[in-house]
Amino acid sequence: AIPLVVAVSTALAAGNGLLIRNRTSFENARNIDAVIFDKTGTLTQGKFGVTDIIPIADGIDTREVLKYAASLEAYSEHPIARGLAKEVDEHYPVDKFQAIPGKGVKGIIQGRRVEVVSPGHLTERGFTLDNEELNELSREGKTIVMVLVNGVLTLAVALADIIRPESKETISSLKSMGIKCIMITGDKKEVAEWVSSELGLDQYFAEVLPYQKAGEVKKIQDGGFTVAMTGDGINDAPALAQADVGIAIGAGTDVAIETADIILVRSNPLDVLKIIQLAGSTYRKMV
Ligand code: ADP
Ligand code: MG
Repeated sequence: AIPLVVAVSTALAAGNGLLIRNRTSFENARNIDAVIFDKTGTLTQGKFGVTDIIPIADGIDTREVLKYAASLEAYSEHPIARGLAKEVDEHYPVDKFQAIPGKGVKGIIQGRRVEVVSPGHLTERGFTLDNEELNELSREGKTIVMVLVNGVLTLAVALADIIRPESKETISSLKSMGIKCIMITGDKKEVAEWVSSELGLDQYFAEVLPYQKAGEVKKIQDGGFTVAMTGDGINDAPALAQADVGIAIGAGTDVAIETADIILVRSNPLDVLKIIQLAGSTYRKMV
């Protein structure tokens, strides 16, 4: 039987927009001393808009290459992809579309090999990216993607996301409760640094590949912390499963939602605070 006080608080939680799927994890929530947030879609809205288009190769048709990139991204569900896809009115058909998790997308358009990938991925492949304009955009918190046509670097596109207005209050309240606030992202260090300083985060991990996220959660746990992980994406599911309390943003992907212990129906990071407070008041009454 479910103790009455738990049943009541589960109902209370639901009334507050918190869907509790795993009651044991909810009980653990009163002991949380570190919260790890995914960046895109969790601390930010995950709604990107193109802000800058920077030609890299000489003599290219910028609009045409942008149309290639947008056409490719029309096949991806990634928030970056949605921002790019809507940048042009018309899309080309794409052959052999392929998504490379945490790195980008590729495919064949009009017989040409088109790739839209992260700067980190290009560096790994041996490209040297030394562009002060791009570095400056990253320091302003903008996400950069690189467009290659037939293996030639042609265009860089900068996109801006919006930090959720509630994120700042969430972080400062958690910190005042003595809870460590950490961000994890696949994005570049400069972008992570910008978001981190805007929000006053204690720590961040940048350029983390999807399969590495759960390992980073484990490392924090091994340091003696009871960890809540908050995320929204397909890539976040293993990290949500690894955490002591896995929290999914309600507007996130099905995979994240299915893996999470608790779902924030209103997609409001402030509700992470509510979970901790509600778990505290519920289980204190039981002992
Ligand atoms: P996050 O951890 O912020 O949610 P991801 O792990 O999903 O980020 O992606 C990491 C990086 O990989 C992005 O910042 C971007 O540079 C690149 N990337 C991922 N998916 C795409 C895509 N569909 N198009 C272009 N770039 C992408
Ligand atoms: Mg994400």
